[in-house]
This record gives sequence, C-alpha cells and structure tokens, in this order.
Amino acid sequence: MMKHLRTFASAAGLAALVIGGSLLSSGLWGEKPEKAGAAELRLVYTPGMTAAQFAEANALPGEVAAAAFNSRGSMPYYDADKLPPDGLRASVERELALHNEHASKNWRKIALKFVMWFAFLGVVFTLLRRGLVTGVLRNWLYFASALLFGVALGSDPSPMGTVKDAIVLYAGSGAVFPPRLIAFGVFLLLVVLANKFICSWGCQLGVLQDLLFRFGRSGGLKQYKPPFSVTNTVRVLALAAVIVSAFLGSDIIGAVDPFKIYNPVILSLWGWAFVTLLLAASLFVYRPWCHLFCPFGLAGWLAEKISVYHVTVAYDKCAACGACERACPSTVMGAILKRDRAIPDCFSCGDCLAACPHGAVSFSAERRQVPPPGKFAKS
Ligand code: SF4
Ligand code: SF4
Repeated sequence: MMKHLRTFASAAGLAALVIGGSLLSSGLWGEKPEKAGAAELRLVYTPGMTAAQFAEANALPGEVAAAAFNSRGSMPYYDADKLPPDGLRASVERELALHNEHASKNWRKIALKFVMWFAFLGVVFTLLRRGLVTGVLRNWLYFASALLFGVALGSDPSPMGTVKDAIVLYAGSGAVFPPRLIAFGVFLLLVVLANKFICSWGCQLGVLQDLLFRFGRSGGLKQYKPPFSVTNTVRVLALAAVIVSAFLGSDIIGAVDPFKIYNPVILSLWGWAFVTLLLAASLFVYRPWCHLFCPFGLAGWLAEKISVYHVTVAYDKCAACGACERACPSTVMGAILKRDRAIPDCFSCGDCLAACPHGAVSFSAERRQVPPPGKFAKS
C-alpha cells in the first residue's frame, strides 16, 4: 500500500514538474502561439483592383493578396456579400492559412529541436546497439527527453502534429504547409532507420507516458497488456474520426490535445481532464495515447514494417524461456518471438534485450528469422 502511494506521489510530482517547468519555459520562449488561429473572412473585391488595393481593403498581408491573385489569374467581378462565387475566397483562405502557419512558428526553436533530436537519438541508438539501455539509465533517458523536447522545447513540433495538423489545415483551407510535410518525412525516416525511434525516445508525450508506466511497474501496480487487435482498431477509428470531423470543420484532437501539457496555458478544461486521465492510465497500460489514438503512431506502425534496425531474435541461442516476452511492456515481443503475422508497435525500449539471459535478443539490422518448428510448442 505504501509502495503504491509512493508511486502515485512520484507520478504527481513528475506531472507537476512538467507543468511548472513548461509554464516557465513557454513564457521564456515568448510571443509565438505555435498554433495558427482561423479567422472569419468577409472579402471586398471590385473589378480592376490591384493586389495592393485588395490587400488594403481586406486588411490582408500584401503577400497573401498577391499570392491569392496570382493563383487565380484574371479576376471576374465579385459581390462582397455573395462570395465565394468561384474560388477567390478559396485562394485567399489557402494563402492566409499558410501565412498564419508560418507566422505562428518559432523557427529558431524548431531548428534547435531538430538538431537536439538528431543528437539525442544518435546517443540512444549507440547505447541500445551496445545493449547498455537498462533499468535506471533508461528512466533517466526518458526523463531527459521529456525535459528537453517537452518542457524546454515545447509542445510543437511533435510527430503527432505533423499528421493531425496537416489533416486539419488541408480540410479547413485546402492548404498544404511544406515545412510540416518535410518534418513528417524526417520523422518517418527516423522510424524506418531505427524502429519507431522518434516515438520511442524523442516524442515528448511518448516518453512521458513511458516513464509513468515504469513508475507503475517499479511501484508494483498491476499492469495490463490489451490485445493489439482491439487497440489498433480503436486507433484506425480515431483517425477516421479526425479526418471526418476535420472536413466538417472541427479539430477533435485539438480540443483535448495532451501534447499541450507542455504549453499548459492553452489547455482547455476538457484538455486538463483528458491529460489527467491519460497520465493516470499510463501507470497501468503502456503508452495508451500511442496505441489508441495517435495518428502518427498508426503511420509509424506501418512504416516500422520496413525498419532497418529493429529487435531480432537469434533462435540458435534462444531457450524459449519467455523472459523477453514477460519483460516487454506490450504484446509485441511475444509476436516478434513467435513471428506472428501481425506485429504490434515496438517502441525500441530495450527491455527485451536486457531481460534475455542468453543474449539472444539484439537491436540489429539483421532480417527477422522464423522460429524453428515446435520451438514454442509449450508456451
Ligand atoms: S505514437 Fe506516441 S510517441 Fe509516437 S508520435 Fe504518437 S504520441 Fe508520440
Ligand atoms: S521490450 Fe517490447 S517494446 Fe521494448 S524493444 Fe523489446 S519488443 Fe520492443
């Protein structure tokens, strides 16, 4: 009982540290909102207007008006109250959305974050390859990652945002924000190079959930491994709901976005309730957000099928004792070990490597083998 209370107190302390530190750092980073707002547009246009006159009449940035004009070619007559008859409104909305996205970002912070991501993931990759990511060090690495990529460098960008925000922006304005596309490509590349590595070690929300799960484990809380068929079905349905609701004009993740724990001033009341629930659930279930809701988690799960470095088993050394499967926080090691057809998400945590008493599990670029027939007949 005392042990459980200590676990809950440590979890609450961690959450308080994250929230307090994030309040401080988001104040220090200053003026950029990081999320572009949507504005109601009423456009004024009369034939013969230049882009500059159009910009002035509509209080638009000059480059937005110019880009909207250029993308429309010659301008027909528009009645201010009956817009959009055919496309000027769409052009302006798209260009304005792109302008707002650009203006909302703190580009220096984003560049710094990517540099730090590459450096940090490089260090963890080296440690994991050498089999050095074990108990206490693993927890410190998760803690450092949450402090660095969340508390210090904020809720945005995040792997999840590159998918969700792209869908919402496109559905609302028809715009595709190229930097977000590039970030998505870089994150997917990291997933492919080393199995889901950006989620494993770089995602500010992922590592926070992971750390809490380990608090629960060392505190003796009962932990659950829900079947992958169930969690993945929920995740697919969640993505479908995000897409449909975005085209209907709402951002359902935005309302409760748990990444905002790193920017607490913009968390809504519903957001606070959801984050509290999510962090509490993380003590009992491994990375609930990643497995149940995250659109990037789903994309990453597909991409990890072609990962170069991943967990592999040398069956000539494996004694089929099941130690790695029991140590794994989810059902994935069992699936890798027995080479099931559906392999769940592997977060490259290294628990299975450390647990194997025969050194049969490694994080390598070797192809995964099929176990010899009958190897796991008794398990
Ligand atoms: S799956 Fe988890 S770790 Fe990966 S982006 Fe989503 S929240 Fe982050
Ligand atoms: S313990 Fe499970 S999640 Fe962690 S690296 Fe091994 S298979 Fe992946």
